[in-house]
Amino acid sequence: MDWTEDMIARLRALWLEGHSTAEIGRRMAVSKNAVVGKAHRLGLAARPSPIRRDGPAGSTRTLPPRRTLGPTLPPLACAHAPAGEAPLPAASVQAPAPQTAPPVVRAVAPRPSRSVACCWPIGEPGTKSFRFCDEEALPGKPYCAAHAQLAYVKVRDRREEAA
Ligand SMILES: [Zn+2]
Repeated sequence: MDWTEDMIARLRALWLEGHSTAEIGRRMAVSKNAVVGKAHRLGLAARPSPIRRDGPAGSTRTLPPRRTLGPTLPPLACAHAPAGEAPLPAASVQAPAPQTAPPVVRAVAPRPSRSVACCWPIGEPGTKSFRFCDEEALPGKPYCAAHAQLAYVKVRDRREEAA
């Protein structure tokens, strides 16, 4: 069929209005295939849907609104503390400062239990160096083994002297 300039213009207009090819053909009294073929030759853009919701008739065809990539809603505030008074973090509740630690009582190692300490005098009485032997005394004796021997020797000597 022959397309006149008026027909082509009307085809463009109807096409831009979003009518289906069948509707355009019906309005232009041409076959649907003729509309499709002519539209293809004219390079009319394919329409995603015959139903146009935007713009009045005859307006310049606009692209459908591009979908915004990514979230369009504001981020949820779930990560933030809800309105109101938030509980104090546990770290802020400080324990009372520890009082001055009492002086460490140094554990004195107990001396080995001795039944009796040797009381053998060492040094001259009345001087700084005077002390007692303090060694472990023999059982039942007031002196250690070494001093007991001396003591009894002396006692024996004394006895011998006294004898
Ligand atoms: Zn002793």
